[in-house]
Amino acid sequence: MTMKTASVFPKNKISFSRQGSRTFAKMSYPVHTGTYSEVETDNHIFHFNLNQEIIRARSKKRSWHHPHEWLKRTMGDDWIYYSTGGYTGVFEATGEYYLPNFNYSSNSILGGTPFRSPEIHELTTDWFHILESCRENNLKDTESTNFYNNILRNTPLYLKEKATAFHNIIDGHISVLPPDARHVEYHLIPIMISRGCLYKCRFCKVKNALPFKELNHLQIDKQIEQMKYLYAADLANYNSIYLGEHDALMTGHKTILHAINKAYNTLDLYTSYLDGLNCFFFGSATSLLEAPAELFKELQLLPGKVYINIGLESPDQSTLDQLGKPISTAQVRDSFKRIQDLNNTYSTIEISANFIMGASLPPAHYQEVEKLIRDTQTHQQAKGSIYFSPLTFDKPSRARLFEFNRLKIMSRFPTYLYIIQRL
Ligand code: SF4
Repeated sequence: MTMKTASVFPKNKISFSRQGSRTFAKMSYPVHTGTYSEVETDNHIFHFNLNQEIIRARSKKRSWHHPHEWLKRTMGDDWIYYSTGGYTGVFEATGEYYLPNFNYSSNSILGGTPFRSPEIHELTTDWFHILESCRENNLKDTESTNFYNNILRNTPLYLKEKATAFHNIIDGHISVLPPDARHVEYHLIPIMISRGCLYKCRFCKVKNALPFKELNHLQIDKQIEQMKYLYAADLANYNSIYLGEHDALMTGHKTILHAINKAYNTLDLYTSYLDGLNCFFFGSATSLLEAPAELFKELQLLPGKVYINIGLESPDQSTLDQLGKPISTAQVRDSFKRIQDLNNTYSTIEISANFIMGASLPPAHYQEVEKLIRDTQTHQQAKGSIYFSPLTFDKPSRARLFEFNRLKIMSRFPTYLYIIQRL
C-alpha cells in the first residue's frame, strides 16, 4: 500500500490517493479496496472516494466497539456497520469475517442493534460537522484547502439527492442483492435489464407488484450512460455489475450478453483499479430450465466471472405450497441438477441456490433439503454455494442459528446464511 501524505498536523492528517487493495480480500482485519483519500483526526478516521464523497468512517475513541469495525456508506446513501461479531461464528455462517448491520429491516439472525449505540449514531449524523471543524484547523496549504472544499461540497443533502438520482436511473431501490455479491462487498453498479418476477410468492418480502418484463436495449443503454455520468471519476474503483431485477435470467440471452458487454465497455471496467470483472444476477427455476445452452457458452467466453443466484426455496411440495411459491418439486430437482451440470462445465460461471429456513416449516422440508445438498453428491464441492434464508425479519435467533449449523455440517456444498442487503 503506497500513499502520498500532503500535510501533517497534530490533530488532522490528510492522506491523498491512498492505494488500497486491488482485490476483495477475505481477512480477519479490515482491508480497504480501491483508491481513496483519508482524513485522520485525534478521534476519527474518514475515507473519501474519487468523487470526494464520504464512503467510510470510524471512531478511534475507547467507546468504539472494536478498532476493526467500520461504517460504510453505499451509493444508495445507507450506512452499514461492519462488526466482527466477536469473530465467533461470523465467517462460518456468512463466508465473510465482518457482519453487515443495517439500519433498515433485514432477515439477519446474527448481530445486534449497533445503530442504537450513541457513538455510531453520532458518526452517521455528525460526520459533516466534524469535518467542517477539521477544515478550520487545516487551512494551511492550497492542496489541503482545496481538498476540504471539495469534500465539504458533498454535503449530506447533496449525497441524499445523488442517491435519489441513482434510484431514479434504476426506477427505485434494489430491495435485495444476490448473496454472492458478498465476494465484492456488494460494491457494484446496478443495471436493470428486466423488472418484476414470475411467481409473486406469498412469503416473499422483497418482491414488487410488477409482472416480469424485459427492458429493451435502448432502455438498458440509457441507464449505463447515466450511471457513467453519476459514478464519474469513482468508476475506476469498480469492477462489478449487477443485472436486475429479480429474475434477470428470464431476459433473452442476447439482451443479457448485450448488457454485460455494453456495461463493461461504457463504464471502462476493463481499466478498473480493481483486478478482474464480475457480473451478478438472479434467476428462477423456470428461467434456469428454459435458458439456452448458448447463453452459458457465451457467458464463459466473457472476461471475468458470472454469478447467478437461483431461488429454489424448498424441494418439498407441502413447503412450496405453504410458502405460496407456484413451482413443483420436479422443477426444483431439475433446476438443482442443471445447476450442478453448469457449475461442473463452466469454470467462470458459478450458480448458487437459495433455500428457506424457519420454525414453521414442515419436517419434510429439511428431509428433502438434506437429500439434495448431501445425498446428491459423493464429495465436498468447491463451488455452487447454498444459501439459507431465514423466513422472518429482524429476529436474531439462536434456534435458527443452531438449525443452520446442522445443515451446514451435513451439506456437501459451501453453505452460508443469506443476509438480505438492499441498494
Ligand atoms: S421469491 Fe423471487 S420469484 Fe418469488 S416473489 Fe420473491 S422475488 Fe418474486
